[in-house]
Amino acid sequence: MKQQAHSVLDALGVHLPATGDLTVRSPIDGGVLAQLPMASRGDMQAAVGRAHEAFKAWRVVPAPKRGELVRLFGEELRANKSQLAQLVSIEAGKVTSEGLGEVQEMIDICEFAVGLSRQLHGLTIASERPGHRMMEQWLPLGVVGIISAFNFPVAVWAWNSALALVCGDACVWKPSEKTPLTALATQALFERALKAYRAAGHAAPDGLSELIIGRADVGEAMVDDARVALVSATGSTRMGRAVGPRVAARFGRCLLELGGNNAIIVTPSADLELAVRGILFGAYGTAGQRCTTTRRVIVHESIHDALVERLDRARAQLPIGSPIEPGTLIGPLIDAQAFDAMQFALSAAREQGGQVSGGERALADRFPEAYYAVPALVRMPAQTEVVCHETFAPILYTLKYRTLEEAIALQNGVPQGLSSAIFTTDLREAEAFMSAAGSDCGIANVNIGTSGAEIGGAFGGEKETGGGRESGSDAWKAYMRRTTNTVNYSSELPLAQGVRFDV
Ligand code: NAD
Repeated sequence: MKQQAHSVLDALGVHLPATGDLTVRSPIDGGVLAQLPMASRGDMQAAVGRAHEAFKAWRVVPAPKRGELVRLFGEELRANKSQLAQLVSIEAGKVTSEGLGEVQEMIDICEFAVGLSRQLHGLTIASERPGHRMMEQWLPLGVVGIISAFNFPVAVWAWNSALALVCGDACVWKPSEKTPLTALATQALFERALKAYRAAGHAAPDGLSELIIGRADVGEAMVDDARVALVSATGSTRMGRAVGPRVAARFGRCLLELGGNNAIIVTPSADLELAVRGILFGAYGTAGQRCTTTRRVIVHESIHDALVERLDRARAQLPIGSPIEPGTLIGPLIDAQAFDAMQFALSAAREQGGQVSGGERALADRFPEAYYAVPALVRMPAQTEVVCHETFAPILYTLKYRTLEEAIALQNGVPQGLSSAIFTTDLREAEAFMSAAGSDCGIANVNIGTSGAEIGGAFGGEKETGGGRESGSDAWKAYMRRTTNTVNYSSELPLAQGVRFDV
């Protein structure tokens, strides 16, 4: 793996240092890919300082001109899509089509951001005073700090930075310490785009997009820095619990994208062919390591046994293997800790009355230093404690329901609120699921699974998922500050609400 990773990095112009304290491994075979130096808290503070200076210059560049830089970056991504995707597979363990999909998502958000750079609209608002005009403007916010998780090692950064850059902000990125190589490759592509932008005669400051490799303590230095106007943090709820209050303590802005515990409800009228495919991809794609992974399936009692048996048979046949080999659908878990967490959850599920199929270690002979797992399905008698917890592994819990109200109560009865879905051909059920009394998640789908969101919609969830929204729709507003401007073009000075103050 090391050789393949290095040849991709060489092609992208990334020259790795010879040594360092951070050991980077491939989950494919557990082998070492690189040793990298780790940044200190001081390095982070210096990077924030550079970004803060860059922001002052970038905020006055017209937004469509800022969009041109993002357009050029999108071109670099297109030209190097397969190489960056290969590195995602090697470092994060994604199967080839998912690695390519991740880079495609980066390209898509760049295109979205380029269009957006001409549409950062404010409103004109009717003033109650004669001879006055009132309007709203969206202005650049400042430095955006981006903390990302291992499982979307590059797309999450792009969702944030493409929008932040067109909005006139500068970025500082702290990627997961498990996936720094894809971050270095992405940064190299961004720097190529910057070079092309400058060669075309546009001015762009240094420090516009900083990359800092380090662990949580280095992330904390960013979180605590008052010059970082927005901290956009993607990762576990545990991380969000640490980051949120620290940012709030300095009255900074936070965008949290945390854990999910996503369910699919299958009703008696469902198209079961679609449901089975949607559930299998949702539960076991990316080896259960997506924030939107389907972790629970809630099935009507009249179809429960037949559907669960069918899912169980299909689960047992999913091809497990090296993610870069053709035909593999289930790649490795990120590391031994993830495998242990999976085993811990399965034994808790057994203790709580669950009947477990699968879940064993796979391919240990071929890859003794890596952790592949047979996808698990657990028939649960009730939504017990373990079911309410996000275990970042391919475990699907199945539950039975009688009435739709009961199904929705189960679906909402967990601390997380990211993604949800219903499979039904009954219009009333579909609408009830999406209504105010329906799913409490940020994403509520009908007849598609819980994972694989498009960039055009706002992405994020409620409750312990953190409440943030990024990517499409009007998520860009989080990266700007709103000002309300009232202009008096009359020669009077009428006060609002009819107040009189005659002097
Ligand atoms: P993690 O929480 O272990 O780490 C995520 C990032 O946070 C890393 O860069 C890490 O170094 C940093 N970090 C951890 N503690 C920190 C602290 N106190 N201060 C500052 N930074 C800190 O998560 P992970 O294992 O890399 O990723 C898996 C988790 O991420 C899952 O819970 C998954 O659901 C979630 N996730 C959520 C989304 C979403 O959009 N909602 C997307 C991807 C992943």
